Amino acid sequence: MKFNEMQIIEPILKALKDKKYEEPTSIQKQAIPLVMNGDDVIGSAQTGTGKTAAFAIPIIQSIHLMDGRRKGKPRIKSLIVTPTRELAIQIDENIKEYSKYTIIRHTVIFGGVKQGSQVDALKRGVDILTATPGRLLDLINQGYINLSNIKIFVLDEADRMLDMGFIHDIRKIIELLPQKRQSLFFSATMPNNIVNLSRKILRNPKKVEASAVSSTAETIKQFVYYTNKSDKKNLLQYILNKLENEQVLLFSRTKHGANKIAKNLKKSKINASAIHGDRSQNQRQKALKDFKDGNVRVLVATDIAARGIDIHKLKYVVNYDVPNVPEDYVHRIGRSGRAGEDGNAISICEPEENIYIREVEKLINLKIEVVKDNPFPQTEKPMSNAEKKQWEKEKQKRKQEFFANRNKNRGNYRR
Ligand code: AMP
Repeated sequence: MKFNEMQIIEPILKALKDKKYEEPTSIQKQAIPLVMNGDDVIGSAQTGTGKTAAFAIPIIQSIHLMDGRRKGKPRIKSLIVTPTRELAIQIDENIKEYSKYTIIRHTVIFGGVKQGSQVDALKRGVDILTATPGRLLDLINQGYINLSNIKIFVLDEADRMLDMGFIHDIRKIIELLPQKRQSLFFSATMPNNIVNLSRKILRNPKKVEASAVSSTAETIKQFVYYTNKSDKKNLLQYILNKLENEQVLLFSRTKHGANKIAKNLKKSKINASAIHGDRSQNQRQKALKDFKDGNVRVLVATDIAARGIDIHKLKYVVNYDVPNVPEDYVHRIGRSGRAGEDGNAISICEPEENIYIREVEKLINLKIEVVKDNPFPQTEKPMSNAEKKQWEKEKQKRKQEFFANRNKNRGNYRR
């Protein structure tokens, strides 16, 4: 099936041609007709499979047709909410490209920067608004945004948006939307509890799946080095040397860890930059741009950059630690191997993380290849069952403390 067989209007077809998209991807083939038909949709698609266009194209089309000969200022008719600022910016950039030959006006709002230019854009009138939840609620409270004309509501990375960290904000936003609306929830991973919650918000949703939920793109080769905690730094140097000048997106679980790794790499003359929630929005955008432009070899990121971010032809993702939430692994490695390109995911695993690799393998239903040619093999023993139990207990406690703190500091929490 081609785009021109999908009843897509000429101005959008022309924009897709400019983008050199030859045919719709699987998620686009399934979702576009449903969205055009006015159905609610719950979509699971691997990262990098064209999810954004799957909802953006029919939204642009429906507003363009609805408001073809409008006079006066547009009102916000579609709202797209995403967990991170980078993803919000990226979605708005895609909308800009797909809608360039239509009447659509669009903008993006997110926290961490002054609100002035965002408010100016809103005042000029917007059809499609992409937002992170914090800034959205803030500008609603200040009276700059009215959601009463929303026809289509999109929750991207829906599983993340409906979990503990965001659910309060999302509930508030949903309360402000008109009852009569179309809702589209998309994500690469959809845990069952989230599917159940989604069903309460969506109306008779049609389910679309571009591939098995939580599967990793077939184009990504996955490897794991088993090593010791104390050898990780040296092993990383070894891996980076082996990859010669290839660019690497490197994930660290903590912001502090990300800073430390970037600092160490710079000390050994490897051009590195860090992106995480403690950096200013300008620093975050600069780091991402420098990496996308090829001016930085290693971008060290926390999971803030794990979702949705599209880095053209990125070949290598390295996990400096194995995520303790297996879904995060899927999102992280999905930064490479996008749109059918080849990708490689390399995980560096210390004894305490062996269990996480097992959890990831269970989720993706695949055995990750162990690299034998490893100058720093794991010699320390993994924990005993009793130690593991104790450790799990402490982990739970840390998690509870984390969420208690986060809720306490909600006002300051940056998105
Ligand atoms: P997404 O999953 O929406 O982040 O898209 C991943 C990448 O695929 C982006 O670089 C898109 O520009 C690209 N893409 C989306 N749809 C198509 C298509 N039909 N053909 C080729 N590339 C596409």
